[in-house]
This record gives sequence, C-alpha cells and structure tokens, in this order.
Amino acid sequence: MSKTKVAILGATGAVGQRFVQLLENHPWFEVSALTGSERSVGKKFGEVCNWILPGSVPEYARGMTVIPSDSDFDARLIFSALPSHHARDLEPALAKKGYAICSNASACRTWDDVPILIPEVNADHTRLIDIQRKQRGWSGFIVTNPNCTSTGLTIAFRALHNAFRIKRAFIVSMQALSGAGYPGVPSLNILDNVIPYIGGEEEKVEREPLKMLGTFNGQKIEFAPMTFSAHTNRVAVTDGHLVVSSVEFETIVTPEEAKRTMIDFEAPEIVAGLPSAPKPVIVVRDESDRPQPRRDRDEGEGMASVVGRVRPDPIFHIKFANLAHNTIRGAAGGAILNGELLKAEGRI
Ligand code: NAP
Repeated sequence: MSKTKVAILGATGAVGQRFVQLLENHPWFEVSALTGSERSVGKKFGEVCNWILPGSVPEYARGMTVIPSDSDFDARLIFSALPSHHARDLEPALAKKGYAICSNASACRTWDDVPILIPEVNADHTRLIDIQRKQRGWSGFIVTNPNCTSTGLTIAFRALHNAFRIKRAFIVSMQALSGAGYPGVPSLNILDNVIPYIGGEEEKVEREPLKMLGTFNGQKIEFAPMTFSAHTNRVAVTDGHLVVSSVEFETIVTPEEAKRTMIDFEAPEIVAGLPSAPKPVIVVRDESDRPQPRRDRDEGEGMASVVGRVRPDPIFHIKFANLAHNTIRGAAGGAILNGELLKAEGRI
C-alpha cells in the first residue's frame, strides 16, 4: 500500500507536536506539510517550534518550512490542530477544495452532518460523510474527534451502554495542563492550585458523548437519550485527564458486571486491525488507587481508556475513575486513528 500524504495544521502547538511525533515512521501516512500562524510561517519547523515532548524534534520534520494553513497542499488528508476560531472558516474551505479533514477543533463538531468519531465507539457514523458531501456539494469532508475529556469516558460508556443502557451520569474531571495548549495556563495560576472552571468544557462533556453514543438513522444522528451533569477542573498535571463518574442504568448493574463488560469490550473488526488501535481498548485496574495520570496515561501507547475503582454508588448504580492521555487518545492519536479508519474504508 502506498503511503497517503498528510498535512498537519497548527503543527507547532501542543497537539500539532503530538501529530509530528506520532506520524514519524507511520506505516500508512507520510507528512508533506506543516502549518502555523504568522509567527512561524516561512521558518524551519525545528527552529520555530518550542518542542515540549520528550526527546528532540523528529529528523523528518526539523528542516521542513512552516507554511500558511490556507495553502494548496500536496496531501489528500489534513490533520487539523488549529484553534477553533481559526478552524471555523478554514476547515470548510479546505473540505470544499477536496481535502479530507480530521479535526481536533470544536468548531464543526456541533454541525448535524459532521460526525464526532471514536472508531471503537461509532465507526458506522462515517456514513454521515456521504450526507455531508452531498448536502454541501463538497468533494472533501470533515470528521472531528471529541473534546479530550469526553474521549476515554465515552469509550467506557459505549461498553456499558451496549450492555445496560445508561440513563444519567454525574461527571467530574481533573484535566491536565497540556489540554490548554502551549503555553497554556500561567504557572502562577496553577501551581499549588486547582481551577474549577474550563471555558466551554462542561457543555461539551454534556453533549458530545450523546452524539457519539447516538444512532445514525441513514440521514442523521439521533442523540442517545441520556442526561449528563459535568464539572470540569484544571489541575497541575502535565498530561492525562482523570475523570470520575457516577452512572445510572435502565437495569441494576453490579460493579463486577460492569468491570467484566469493560474488560470484554472489543472494537469492530475493521477498527481492531488499524495500526494505532489499542489492544485491549479498555484497561480495567483492580488497585484501590489507580488509574493515576503519571502512572497510567501511556497504557496502550497512550491510546487505551483506563478504568479503575469500579464500585457501588449510593445515589446511582456504579461509580468509577477513568483516565485517557489527552494529547494522544484525546487529540492527535485519536485523529490519526480516525484517518486510519477512513483509509481502511477506502474514503481517502
Ligand atoms: P496550541 O498549543 O495553542 O496550538 C495552536 C496551534 O495553532 C499552533 O501551532 C499555532 O501556531 C497555530 N495557530 C494559532 N493561530 C493560528 C492562525 N491564526 N493561523 C494558523 N495557525 C494558527 O493549541 P492545542 O492545544 O495544540 O490545540 C489545538 C486544537 O486542538 C484546538 O482547537 C484545541 O481545542 C483542540 N484540542 C486540544 C487538545 C489538547 O489536549 N491540547 C485536545 C483535544 C482538542 P504558532 O505556534 O505558529 O502560533
């Protein structure tokens, strides 16, 4: 199989750097373009990028010149890590030009004809792409991944919803600093502190999983009939969002049943064979004090959804903790997995 050329928009940021890292030696994709803001355009990536990941800028990217995000790309697939306000106009314009876009930005997630995709959760929602292209007359298309807090949680919820039908959930997040991008939250605001507010995040956590857990009826997504209440908080952790939730189901569920269901959860066959798909999809831990961001975020190369502390809930049915690496599973790695699914389906 020949490699598909891909561009990374916003390559110098926290998510863009993860793309650059994860796409080094990718078996299916080859990076042909990197973009940034006016600050970076025209400069070598290795010089302008303030590399925040372990190690050095990958050799292949170091000498590449950063170009504007509205360029004509020598690429079929575009991975976007643009700020949402910039993605709002640019991503549709690029889709119209014929590019396939896997976006991390929230700008288009709420559009009825744009899927929010997690391959293990709702691979069949790629069929919405046909409706999107037809309605908008685009030769390309846009697929998004969810906000980084919803990702790991929605994978666990998919397994539980399939088996027991979720009715309601109460959700509290403890979100890492890299989720705010680079340079992100000033150190004097977050050291020795927790900030109980992340703009727009609670609305996203209360809405995006319902779209992903919903049903594609041939024309549109019917949202899953459940209600979530979310409290989102920023904590002084570099990577990995820890999310705790209490969940009510249509039937009474024991912690043992919930655990077994998550341990046994498998991705559809086409997804399980993708290069970035984690095996197992959900890692369930039995220790009383796991998962923890520093210890568990790299599980499954940062692509697993890690669950622990599954126990009875005195108000709802069960409660548990969930961890996912926000810039890998919740951003760049998730978007790459989406790109792999699109390639496996012959859409790119
Ligand atoms: P970031 O660290 O602030 O990076 C933003 C990137 O966009 C930089 O490469 C920046 O380029 C570029 N950029 C800024 N303004 C631009 C403009 N006017 N034109 C072109 N490029 C521009 O942000 P991030 O955390 O990587 O997030 C990127 C996107 O992913 C956001 O939409 C965010 O909501 C979403 N997301 C982030 C996470 C996460 O965990 N961080 C998770 C899921 C989704 P320069 O460096 O050249 O200025």
